[in-house]
This record gives sequence, structure tokens and C-alpha cells, in this order.
Amino acid sequence: MTGLEQFELVETVLRGTPAVPGIAVAPAIRPTARVNVDARIGPISESDRAAELTAFHAAAATVAQRLRDRAAASSGAAAEVLAANAAMAGDRGWLGVAQRRIAEGDPATMAAIVATEQFAVMFAKLGGLMAERVTDLRDVCDRVVAELVGAPEPGIPTPAMPSILLAADLAPADTAGLDPALVIALATSLGGATSHTAIIARQLGIPCVVGVDGLDKVPAGTQVLVDGSAGTVTVAPDAAAAARRVADYRAVAARNAEWSGPGATADGHRVDVLANVQDGAGARAAQATAAAGIGLFRTELCFLERESEPTVEEQARIYREVLDAYPNAKVVLRTLDAGSDKPLRFAEHPDEANPALGVRGIRIAARDSGILDRQLDAIALAAAGRDVVPWVMAPMISTAAETKSFADKVRSRGLVPGVMIEVPAAALLAETILEHVEFASIGTNDLAQYTMAADRMSPELAALTDPWQPAVLTLVARTAAAGRTMDKPIGVCGEAAADPLLACVLVGLGVSSLSSAAPAVAAVGAMLSSVTLDACREAAAAVLGSADPADARELARKILVA
Ligand code: PEP
Ligand code: MG
Repeated sequence: MTGLEQFELVETVLRGTPAVPGIAVAPAIRPTARVNVDARIGPISESDRAAELTAFHAAAATVAQRLRDRAAASSGAAAEVLAANAAMAGDRGWLGVAQRRIAEGDPATMAAIVATEQFAVMFAKLGGLMAERVTDLRDVCDRVVAELVGAPEPGIPTPAMPSILLAADLAPADTAGLDPALVIALATSLGGATSHTAIIARQLGIPCVVGVDGLDKVPAGTQVLVDGSAGTVTVAPDAAAAARRVADYRAVAARNAEWSGPGATADGHRVDVLANVQDGAGARAAQATAAAGIGLFRTELCFLERESEPTVEEQARIYREVLDAYPNAKVVLRTLDAGSDKPLRFAEHPDEANPALGVRGIRIAARDSGILDRQLDAIALAAAGRDVVPWVMAPMISTAAETKSFADKVRSRGLVPGVMIEVPAAALLAETILEHVEFASIGTNDLAQYTMAADRMSPELAALTDPWQPAVLTLVARTAAAGRTMDKPIGVCGEAAADPLLACVLVGLGVSSLSSAAPAVAAVGAMLSSVTLDACREAAAAVLGSADPADARELARKILVA
């Protein structure tokens, strides 16, 4: 009997790193690999070419119809993309080039690829929106090739029923395209809790566990239960027990959902509870929570797929959507944090051995200030005529000089400048940085990565990048103290602010706002409303003296959970 068969028969618990809380049970789906075509095949004999052409047209028509059916079954942006891709599969120009190649002796698979590459070069040259379509065109081609050789469709399948996606890893762009109604949980064998895949999953409200040992042995179709709070994937769970766990989780979530803000401790100490978003749709979704505003708009996530830099007007349109969702509230936009695991094609990143330590975030402006200048112009355009002036902060600030240069640019456009504190150097010298700006927001994901010298993407190092690490919390305390001295507000917008218990500790350390993905807002607000400021301070003092994250959690739990 193989390992796979055992999973189907016996309940097995696989352990990973909790990334997004929530429990779901459903059959597993897996991404399908694209078919590699051997370029050496061919030419085909003249007598077979008519049949090859018929097969090609049939495959293209099947793919187009499948995409049209999916478009009809979807809504919003997903429906538009699917419909556009269906049109590509039936495009006369593309079909014509492939048809000519087949007539000259190319096998249909090769003809599809050659035609696709011809159009890809042309689209890339045209730039702008056309260049954006290259990925879609290649995706359509991969599907046609798979259809021709009788292989399953490549990429993330669109399931017919709510399912749980299991994968080795997912690119942020793949995760961003998921439909939370159909992909109800996510588990990966790679990645850390603060990888951007996990962040986007949190944004979408999809329970997620990363770095799961043994996940690659679980075949598609197996029933699995993902517990995003415990960090487990139960293969072939007992059906009744699984249903009970889902129901219990829903009951707690329903209690949290009753929290209606504003953010405050039980004894009335006010704390801004805000939402992290990645686009206008995310901001509109956040309106359903009691978040008082937006504490982090990760602007780079709007452009992960872009081949070319969006124009100032186009950017302004996108930023305006987020400002429109919170017209009278605090909105903090972060300038492009491109680089490392979120490269932007138009930012022209250098080839680096250690991209996380490389030209990332604000450092891009030192090579070419144009991208930052144009983004700030776009934000100012989006903000024009509004009652509330948006706050704008820079990622990856390390020095006072970087801060001053950024703050001057932001102020000259009538906006409110701030920084992210996510590099230990910035936390250690927070006063010298705060001197130039109006506020700071602590990015605990990167602060943990750089403090502990541990890749936030690495499942093996997840214990080191745990935001409960006393060294990380010491730097949070250091920054909050600088904020008090300089009378500047200090928030936290890293994933630490999404953990209700840790959120209370952060308040005890002196932070004045907490910003988390919208699905975590209610749990954070509800927990905060159940504790006093004194208890938060007591817990903060205890965790600063703790030995390790497990000890810190335990100490905080004893003080904060009745
Ligand atoms: C952080 O580092 O904590 C943060 C909020 O920024 P990002 O996760 O986007 O790097
Ligand atoms: Mg960061």
C-alpha cells in the first residue's frame, strides 16, 4: 500500500505554520503543471495536416467554451478576465497564424506556441494594457496545448464546488486571483506565515496554513480539514468531528462579529483599529467591518501583473477607489514596496543574490526617483479636494536621510508623511527618524525577518520569525517609547496586529493603532474590548522578560485571558 492510499483511509494530522485563522473542510484540489512541448517534434506529413488543423480548432474551441462557461458562472473582475481570455482563444489573428504554421508542417502544439510568442512580442512592444495581456495569452495557449495532448488543464483549477487548494507554493499573483467562495482554504508546503501569499490569503479571508510537512503526498480529491489557527491540515478527518469544529469556529466568529467599534480597551483607552487592504475592492470589503479606517494600503499589490508602469492618472483612479471607501477616515497609503518577493516588472530590479537585503521599497527611489515622484503625484491627484488628507508612508526606511528626502517630497504635495519601521536600524534610532515625519507604522513581518536574520518565507525558520520573539517586541517597545518622546503616533500594521492576544500586548507596549487584514479586525477589536490598559501593560512587561515566543504567549494568556 502506498502513502497516498493510507491517507485516504486513515485520519492523519499534518502540521505547519498557522497563517490565516479559520476552519474549513472540503475536498482538496491541486494546481496542474503545464505541458512541456518538445520543440524537436515534427514536421508532420502533408497527409496528416488537415487532421492536425481540425484537432487544433477543436481544442481552441473547447478551451474558449470552457472559459466562457466559467465567465458566466463568475462575477466582477474574475468574470471580465475569463471572458477576455475566452475571446483570445477564439481570436482570428492568433488562430490564423497557428493555422499557417500547421499548413507548413508544424504540429498543432508547436503552432499554438509559435503563434502565441509572435503575439506576445507584439503586445510587449505595444506596452501598457496590451503588454498586460501577455500572461493571459500564454495561459490560454497552455490550456490549448493541454487539450491537444489530452492532459488536464494547467494552473489553479476552477473547482465545481467549494474546495481546499493544496500547493507547494503560490505566487502572490496566483493567490490574488482566487475566488474565496470556491477556494475556501489554502495550505502550502512552502512559505512562512508572513509570506505575501499568506498575507493575500488573509486579505481574502481564506483560512491558510503554510509550511505543511507531508502535504505533497495528499492527492487531489481527498477530504481535508484546514485549521488556520492551529496550523494543521487533517487528512481524511472524521466527518462528524470535522463538522463540529467548523460549527464551533463559526460560533466564535459570530460572537466577534458583534464587535462594532470604536477600538478601545475595557476601561476606555482608545486605540485605532484599522484594516490593511490591497485595492479598492478590499477597501469596500473592509467597510463591512468596524475598522475605523485603512492603516496600510499595500499599493504594490495592485501592480504585480503589470509589465509597464501605470500612468499617473491610472494610478490616481486606483488610489481614489480606496479613498472613496473611507472618505472621512484615516487612510494610510504605502508607496510601492517593490522588490524581494514582490518584484514589479516595471521597477527594473537589479539581479541580486539577496533580494530581501537588496534594492527594495524606498531604496528604489535612490536609483530612480521617477517612480516614487509619479506615485506621489498620483496620490496627490487622488487626494485633491478631499476633507481628510491621506497619510503616506515609505517602506524599508533605514536612515534619517532617506526619511527626510521622502518627507520633503510628500509635504511638497500637501500630503502627510510617515514611515514604516521594519528595519532594526530604524527602530534603534526611531527618534532621529520621527523628527522628520508625522507618524510611523511598525511592519513586524520585516522587522522580525531582519531582527532575527531569518527569511520570512522560510517554513524552517518560522519559529524565528514569530512576532512574539522577545527581541522583536523589544524593538517595538523601543519605537513606541520614541513615539511618546516625540509625541508622534506609532501604529503596527504587520501581521502581529492580526493576532488578538498579541494586539493587546502591542497596546501595552504603547502603540496607538492596530491595522490588520479585514477578516481579523473583529477578533482584534473584541479581544481589546475585553481587557484593561493596565492588563495590557502588565502583559507587555511580562513578554519583554520572556524566554521565547511560547513562553511569551503563555505569560500573556495568563494575564489577558480570563
Ligand atoms: C511588514 O513588513 O510587517 C509589513 C506590513 O509590510 P509587508 O508585509 O508588505 O512587507
Ligand atoms: Mg514589510
